[in-house]
Amino acid sequence: MMGMGGPGGMHMFMWGPGGRGEGKRPSLSMYRRLLQYVGPYKWNLVFAAVLLVVSTALGLIWPQVVQRVIDLGLRDAGFLDLLILGLIVVLLVRAVIDGLRQFVMAYTGESVIFDLRMGIVRHMQSLSLSFFNRRKTGELMSHVTSDATLVHGVITQTIIQVLGQVLTLVGGVAVIFLMNWRLALLTLVVAPPIAILGQRMGRRIRDISREAQDAQGEAVGVLQEAIAEVRVVQAFTREEYEAARFHEKLLFTFKKTIERARISATMFPIIGFLGFMSVIVVLWYGGHEVARGEMTPGMLVAFLLYINMVAGPVGQLASQWTQVQQAFGAADRIFALLDTVPEIQDRPGAAALPPVRGEIRFEEVGFRYGGASEPTVLDDLSTTFQPGETTALVGPSGAGKTTLVNLVGRFYDPVSGRIVVDGHDLRDVTIRSLREQIAVVPQEPILFADTIRENIRYGRLDATDAEIDEAARSANATEFIARLPNGLATIVGERGVRLSVGQRQRVAIARALLRNAPILLLDEATSSLDNESEYLVQQALDRLMRGRTTIVIAHRLSTVERADRILVLDHGRIVEEGTHGELLALGGLYHRLYTRRFVDVDAVRPAEAGEAAAIMAGMPAAAEPRRLRVVR
Ligand code: ADP
Repeated sequence: MMGMGGPGGMHMFMWGPGGRGEGKRPSLSMYRRLLQYVGPYKWNLVFAAVLLVVSTALGLIWPQVVQRVIDLGLRDAGFLDLLILGLIVVLLVRAVIDGLRQFVMAYTGESVIFDLRMGIVRHMQSLSLSFFNRRKTGELMSHVTSDATLVHGVITQTIIQVLGQVLTLVGGVAVIFLMNWRLALLTLVVAPPIAILGQRMGRRIRDISREAQDAQGEAVGVLQEAIAEVRVVQAFTREEYEAARFHEKLLFTFKKTIERARISATMFPIIGFLGFMSVIVVLWYGGHEVARGEMTPGMLVAFLLYINMVAGPVGQLASQWTQVQQAFGAADRIFALLDTVPEIQDRPGAAALPPVRGEIRFEEVGFRYGGASEPTVLDDLSTTFQPGETTALVGPSGAGKTTLVNLVGRFYDPVSGRIVVDGHDLRDVTIRSLREQIAVVPQEPILFADTIRENIRYGRLDATDAEIDEAARSANATEFIARLPNGLATIVGERGVRLSVGQRQRVAIARALLRNAPILLLDEATSSLDNESEYLVQQALDRLMRGRTTIVIAHRLSTVERADRILVLDHGRIVEEGTHGELLALGGLYHRLYTRRFVDVDAVRPAEAGEAAAIMAGMPAAAEPRRLRVVR
């Protein structure tokens, strides 16, 4: 099995900023991968290409008409009328074809980008928690938004425009060679310098674009944090600090963008100038040829028109080349994300975990976050959680309680040893079948911006409304829900800000009740509630825990007292084990944590209170003053 160290370290390395593809030409495989997304729409593209060929060919007729107007039409009025009529028809047909082509291309481009965005999102959700620990939300979002948009530009417009320009270029050049090959050769002396310039600058632009996209992603990451945690920012009056962080990232993006603009601003005028030079050469040399009678005036005009036709695409190709390069920079970032392999995934042929009784056994489980150089978080930990029993985890902050709980849900894999549920090693069963038998009540329940009913239904999507009502009732939530303007149909704000902590907890409990899973992972809230809410939450929890294997990171005295068993963790080891009474009698760490907390409560010194709370992950005083006094 893949340990945390190996793949974890590798991906971190792969993810170093700009670690991939920088300075290299976009590899063939990148083109191929982009084409893969285009694959399902290839007939659209073929159709658009056919339309394009027709429209280009029709466009090439125009200078021929002008030539004939000048050389013949000026002398024959009837022929002139005919020519003009013909020209109007041709241009009308071309307009219709162009419109159709544009629509087909836009449709195709939008479809491709739709698939790409969905692909990114699906893949991102399959990645492991350790990946999200390393990356900022906003930065990840920038892949789906701005990177995808850049790639989108290429697919919708650039590819087909480039194709159109190449066709015009090739067609135009062929025609001028047929008309007058010496003049044509003279025109084309400027082509090689333009091509070389475009090539070199285009490559620079791609690299800068990738850096700019990376930096922009980081800026969005900072911004996202500042917005999501705005309460913390304002409470600590760190607005200036956040603004400075954003400023730094934004400034970097700005500099890169300006650098890109500088390169473009150098490149395009040079190309424009070279283009004019070729026209001037034709005017000068062709003028002499007309004077000598070797060419008709109409031919010279037609020739100049063709050069215009050819010069346009050359300039635009250079500009589009840079756009294509920008898009490759973005595609590079997207593919780097898509190439990240989830660290936790089903092993090949993993079977579904059959319905379990809920016996969870830790067998000499060792764990650390990241590579071998990282500190050990769980150290050869062995214990068994019996079916239906409630185990309270207690210990100083950083002891490894949260980690232990996360291992049960297989959000990480142990580095050594194994975890077994009803005799099945967690790594042998599918993640989905395991997690379907687990309900989680987090410390700070997150509610989605949806109705309360849908928030509860999140526990089990096929639950009926009656089941949701029942869950809400068991969670003691009916009474406050009834007081809301729309009852269960009330929409709660982002993270449910409009509900109190105790109310949110009860919604989370209802969600877990609905899931009706044999295993319950519970991270108790640290915030103390008023006595009534405390009682309602506790009662709801009791109902939830009944008959399930419960592992609770305990912060409330009542929970610890009522637990079938208490595990005292310290530095990733189980240092004491037993019931509340047994552990108190033991006079060890548990006793120390417990009494220190007690001293802290009576001393009423806020500084010490904070300290003590850090030492023991909290047994709220307010709710249980009587009990605490007894201990003294
Ligand atoms: P507890 O829940 O008992 O407070 P945790 O399980 O959260 O303890 O943490 C145990 C140790 O693991 C701590 O030293 C903490 O710093 C470290 N730790 C927790 N989460 C991570 C993480 N995502 N990456 C790296 N280290 C972590």
